[in-house]
This record gives sequence, C-alpha cells and structure tokens, in this order.
Amino acid sequence: MEKGFPRNSSPFPLFETPVWKCSDTSCTCWMRVDLAFEESPSCPICSKEMVLETKMLPKLTTVKS
Ligand SMILES: [Zn+2]
Repeated sequence: MEKGFPRNSSPFPLFETPVWKCSDTSCTCWMRVDLAFEESPSCPICSKEMVLETKMLPKLTTVKS
C-alpha cells in the first residue's frame, strides 16, 4: 500500500508513474504498480476491480547516479 499522499507543492520532480486506480469513481483509492503485490489487485477499500492509469508522482528511489 502507498503510504501518504503526494503533496501539490512537492519539491521533487514528478514523473508519469503507472498506478492501479479503483474503477469505482466515488472511491479515490490507488496504489503504485511497483508496490502492488498482485498483478491485478482489487481495491483494498471497496474490493472493486482496479484499472491501470498513470499519475504524476515523485520518483520512489532517492538514489542519484
Ligand atoms: Zn475502491
């Protein structure tokens, strides 16, 4: 599960990140695909199917090369 929510005033650069989003439009639950344990997870809140989308999120890794 994703911990915390991205802040609008994030100082980190944002990247298009694949996420699982709940197919129920009244439910705001989503999780990073990278952090999902299942290939096709169901919503932990309402148990509905989740659909693949992209979100602008800061990168997970803090390692800079
Ligand atoms: Zn849901």
